[in-house]
Amino acid sequence: MIIRARTVVTMDGPPIENGAIALSEDRIVDVAKFDEIKARHTGEVIDLGEQALLPGLINAHCHLDYTCLRGKIPPQRSFTDWIRAINAEKAKLTPDDYVASINDGLAEARRFGTTTIANLTAFPELVRQIHAPIRTWWFAELIDIRAPERAKELVGRAIESLGGARPLATAEPVHGEGGPGAPWGLAPHALFTASKDVYRRCEEIARRQNALLTTHLAESREEMQMFRDASGPLYEFLKSIGRWMDDCGNKTPLEHFFKIRDSWTPKAFGVRNDSSWMVVHLNELAESDFELLERSASKFHIVHCPRSHNFFGHSPPGLERLRLLGFNICLGTDSLASNENLNLFAEMRAFQKAFPSVWPKAVFRMVTVNPAMALHQENILGRIRRGLKADLAAIPCSASTDVFEQMIAFEAPVNWLMVNGKM
Ligand SMILES: [Zn+2]
Repeated sequence: MIIRARTVVTMDGPPIENGAIALSEDRIVDVAKFDEIKARHTGEVIDLGEQALLPGLINAHCHLDYTCLRGKIPPQRSFTDWIRAINAEKAKLTPDDYVASINDGLAEARRFGTTTIANLTAFPELVRQIHAPIRTWWFAELIDIRAPERAKELVGRAIESLGGARPLATAEPVHGEGGPGAPWGLAPHALFTASKDVYRRCEEIARRQNALLTTHLAESREEMQMFRDASGPLYEFLKSIGRWMDDCGNKTPLEHFFKIRDSWTPKAFGVRNDSSWMVVHLNELAESDFELLERSASKFHIVHCPRSHNFFGHSPPGLERLRLLGFNICLGTDSLASNENLNLFAEMRAFQKAFPSVWPKAVFRMVTVNPAMALHQENILGRIRRGLKADLAAIPCSASTDVFEQMIAFEAPVNWLMVNGKM
């Protein structure tokens, strides 16, 4: 099959005007000018006309469990009040509600041109019931605030459940404990809700099985206050529900993360490799944290959720500094309990508004090339290149302005999409 478009945005060099790609089953086998592709390949030609053909978008962080909470929780006085409010809403939901919520979220993400999603679920036991229409990385969200002595059991159960996840509706469930490319990972929720033992156990598994890890870190001012000063609303709330609080009062969240990470790194591994971690948020960093990050030889990936960030009114994130330090920055939507939809075009717009000096092409990398790297899929997803999976989206475009600027301004749902070679 040949697909032609006014512009093909490969993410390898400049977009190809009057470009085309040739496909064989689920793979891209050639990318060039339409004339050259026609000369080299036969088969059905799909002409997308005045459109830009793009790599399918990758959402690096969301919680589809809470798609049904869209508009249910207005902005609160504090992050802690928001946690109380979402807990009250969650108490009303049944397993069937969560399954419906995840399915609705997957369908919505697809409508906005997303072909891959990194999704955290608090209910890994439900994922066997989901036939995802887009490529889905399931991360089991782990919280053991009420039973830290059962960390091992909690992680073990989650992995067993995720073993039944399907990467796509058409694919078979993945059995066993994963391995390279397996569509699952582990998500110790945050330092304030998951114990050191959960983090340690997840890291061990990630090393052994090449699984991915993600966690929320340094999201709110209240989290900073809790760990650095042992005070504030989050500190008081968690203390009141019986959390261990002996880790509070002397470190920033990032220092705390590094400290427990170093304690679980076996010496035998030598230089550590943080590339399995997708660290979400990092809104609250002290000057000493930036120094720590500068000295750190290995780099984790960073996920920023622009509109969820605005919803909470978190501090401006130091993303430009982090980019200069060599961190790989990706964008995510977070859940619809703090966002209005799962539209990554709108996330790019919100990001550009906050960081007008970042080039549109660099912003587009944050929803394609960068998250593909974070998911260890840089040779499979995120670009239009020979040998990569045919995960594609098309949006209308004209010759008048830069295609990346048009992309960031794009409003309507995407009406042409391909996942794994299937339209
Ligand atoms: Zn999140």
